[in-house]
Amino acid sequence: MGQIRLLSDVLASQVAAGEVVERPASVVKELVENSIDAGALRITVEFHRGGTRLIRVTDDGRGMDRSDALLSLERHATSKIRESADLTTISTLGFRGEALPSIASVSRFSLSTRHREETVGTSVEVSGGKIIEVKDSGEAPGTRIEVADLFFNVPARRKFLRGEQTEAAHLLQQIEILAVAHPEIAFTCRRDDREVFRLAASDDLAVRLRDLHGAGFLEKLVPVPCLHHQGIKVHGWIARPGEGRADRNLQMLFVNGRMIHSPILSLPLREACDGTLAKGLHPPAVLFFEMDPAAVDCNVHPAKREVRFRDPALLRSVALMAARSAWATAAPSLTNLPSSTPVTSPWKPSEFSHQQEFTPASPVPAYAAQPSAFPDASRVAESPSSPPSSVARFIGVLGIRYLLFEDEESLLLIEIRAARERVLYEQFVSRLRLGELESQHLLLPEVLEMSSADLAWIEAHRDLLYATGLVAEVFGGKSLKVDAIPAAASSLPVEEIVAGLVDDLRKITESPSLDSLPREALAASVSRLAAAGARISAGEAAAQMLLRELLSCELPYVTPGGRPTMNQISPGELKRRFTA
Ligand code: ADP
Ligand code: MG
Repeated sequence: MGQIRLLSDVLASQVAAGEVVERPASVVKELVENSIDAGALRITVEFHRGGTRLIRVTDDGRGMDRSDALLSLERHATSKIRESADLTTISTLGFRGEALPSIASVSRFSLSTRHREETVGTSVEVSGGKIIEVKDSGEAPGTRIEVADLFFNVPARRKFLRGEQTEAAHLLQQIEILAVAHPEIAFTCRRDDREVFRLAASDDLAVRLRDLHGAGFLEKLVPVPCLHHQGIKVHGWIARPGEGRADRNLQMLFVNGRMIHSPILSLPLREACDGTLAKGLHPPAVLFFEMDPAAVDCNVHPAKREVRFRDPALLRSVALMAARSAWATAAPSLTNLPSSTPVTSPWKPSEFSHQQEFTPASPVPAYAAQPSAFPDASRVAESPSSPPSSVARFIGVLGIRYLLFEDEESLLLIEIRAARERVLYEQFVSRLRLGELESQHLLLPEVLEMSSADLAWIEAHRDLLYATGLVAEVFGGKSLKVDAIPAAASSLPVEEIVAGLVDDLRKITESPSLDSLPREALAASVSRLAAAGARISAGEAAAQMLLRELLSCELPYVTPGGRPTMNQISPGELKRRFTA
């Protein structure tokens, strides 16, 4: 009994029309999604010459009987929706019934399929949209679709294809996305007759991520504990604090199983990194958001890459919560401690090989984790009230910027200003939770000339500035009268403080992603100024104190702006540097 119906004309026009087939990668997406919808447990994707010569997708799914096989090639033939009300409750990946006919109309196409309950299969040959042959075939249950010579009959489209390498890269990226979304399905991929990967089915996303990107990748991630908030569920993995890369290729955000690109989800993730990641870097993440299909409209983009949320603000806060809760439960790990490469160096682009990229990580001493495990605390703990002592031995100060410590045989370098910035930042964030930062009154108010744009912004954000400790008012239309400044930065010239705060905070208030300015931003700005103004004292006691304070921070390894605070050179690294 056939399962496919033709969509009514009315319904067909309600379905957004659009080109599904842009390039080989989009063909693969449509075919593999069909296999997933058909309940396949094993999917094989083969392609030749970047997919321009041939794409073959084989699955062990439900298969089709002859009438369905023929119907599947008619426009708007779909087994997945019957009437327009169904559009609000779509749970399958495909629903428009236009992929197969579109693909078949621009390629030499063949479909070979056998329904699980039938003994004989069907094969259909189509060329440029015309059915050439239909015959019985003796396939295993499941479906195999071959798409050869994509766009052979539409030279204008063919011209738009990029080189084979580029098309292959898009195609692999696409398969990777589908494979990440479905660890429970085994995937095999062959490129020009060579196996690219063979992924075993697993009920564990971590296994799939490891199989695709190597164990090194997984180490850079922390799990997002399963979160349930107002009808939205989220789970997955996100980069450890301080881990980022310049592109978003490793940021995969799925809504009801479909990967989407949406600033509503990606901006809050970036926002959650403020304070640990330099501008321009994004946290890799694989997150699955599940919600009532009626809460999201996925029929707004021809390739279904974009969606519209009924309650974007809710999604935004769930994304933010997901990142923060992952980090709250993940103690700063030792593997975070940079060796001689800074934490913020972008990751290598994703690769599909199994032999993974892996820069040999130097062994890292357990500074932050168990200070008490180190017996040699004799050189520290000058004051009885000091926190548990750190264990590194102070060597000295290099120039005016760095503190040098020794631990076992490795060398630890602390950048004084960056370390102060991190320490102050964390203090300020917690103080801002309770109220304002401390201010220091000026003996005489200071009057600053400022641009009218800056003055207007200051006028509009007085409360915000007040929270940092700055008390000031616009005066005579052209100047600002400053009565008090943030106490922590009081050694800097008033003008520098005001300019610094306005510069930092204005950018943030202008960003469309935020409803309100987070404390973190205020704290970051003041700590940067305060660290810049702080006097350097080079004594051992101060050095040990700074190290201890730094190590008791929640995220000791980077400044709020993402600069490393410390660098460690391991014995191995030292040895390498002295080897011929
Ligand atoms: P849609 O996925 O939007 O329904 P398609 O054009 O992609 O439209 O596919 C049309 C129909 O063909 C599907 O609804 C499904 O019933 C059937 N079909 C396509 N691919 C497969 C497959 N690999 N296995 C089983 N059925 C399939
Ligand atoms: Mg489909």
